Amino acid sequence: MWAKYKRSSFELFLSYINWALTTSGLPKITDQHRHIYITSLDLIKTIKKSKKWRLYVADGASSLNETECKAIATCCVRSADGRMRKDWLRDKVASCLLIKHGFHPVDCWRVKIQNCSHNPTYVDRAMERKPYYIINGHKTKDAGKKVSNVVSCGCAHDHDEENWNCEYNLFHTLVTDLGVERSQQGIFHCTNKGGYGWSNRGQQKTETIGKSIQRINKRIQFAPKKKCTGAMGRKTFITLSRKFFGFEDEKIKDESHHADHNAYMRYVDGGYMNVDSQTLISRTFQEFEQRRYLPPRPESFPRRVRNVEHNLGQLTESVDMLIKLLITFLKQLKKLQSFTVL
Ligand SMILES: [Zn+2]
Repeated sequence: MWAKYKRSSFELFLSYINWALTTSGLPKITDQHRHIYITSLDLIKTIKKSKKWRLYVADGASSLNETECKAIATCCVRSADGRMRKDWLRDKVASCLLIKHGFHPVDCWRVKIQNCSHNPTYVDRAMERKPYYIINGHKTKDAGKKVSNVVSCGCAHDHDEENWNCEYNLFHTLVTDLGVERSQQGIFHCTNKGGYGWSNRGQQKTETIGKSIQRINKRIQFAPKKKCTGAMGRKTFITLSRKFFGFEDEKIKDESHHADHNAYMRYVDGGYMNVDSQTLISRTFQEFEQRRYLPPRPESFPRRVRNVEHNLGQLTESVDMLIKLLITFLKQLKKLQSFTVL
């Protein structure tokens, strides 16, 4: 069965079964009613373990679920006595960049204050104040190409400086707190020993971006099944925007800076196959067999000379035709002239 369907359609199939069971008066496939469907469920489990199944599972990290995302986006950055916790703030900003903007962990790593431009007085078309930051940088896989991402205000109406779920507020606080003296270094180049805990000892001593999500998950008491990595944030961005909010692939690609459509599709869906490129050669062969296509042939020198001669012959024929036409035209003109003179 797995050879025919992709993973996503398989999950759809399972939810369809659940729906069909309830409409026919049978209990859903849940833990309480597991004993009824045990044989089929065991079969599915063994299928999932098999190598063939794994070929159809998408590449890379798994994504966080909806509740985890909401909890991360709304988690607190102040301790009980109202003081700003610097490490909490930085963790939240890093996670938001990954989950809500589709940053690659390397993109996060490259964010510097000097590359950020800032418009605090921007008013949108609904005449509400929505300030934003533009983060300029380089593309992850294609370092020479310049890209930019925008972090903008997420308040309900006019920007509220006390709203700690507004992404602009978080980013602005982090940037202003770091100040001019750290504008050359990356925002997230740090260890987690008290406050921001800056380290100048190279990347080995500094933290990975994935640690931010890991710590937040621990703090909001979501015990993740697997170790949280930075790539999980990016995966979450694509999964949520594609399957949950229903955005188009082109729009998502623009923001996550996937240049290659095939690479993007393979990232999203392990069973994806570009049929056109896979069958291009065989289709060309078939066209050749059926005499609908002649391949370009590498030519020898004498053959090429003969071709040139042939083409030149055609050219001289057409020149002859042109001269004949001109002569007849001139003759006509002469007749006309003689007529006017008379
Ligand atoms: Zn705001």
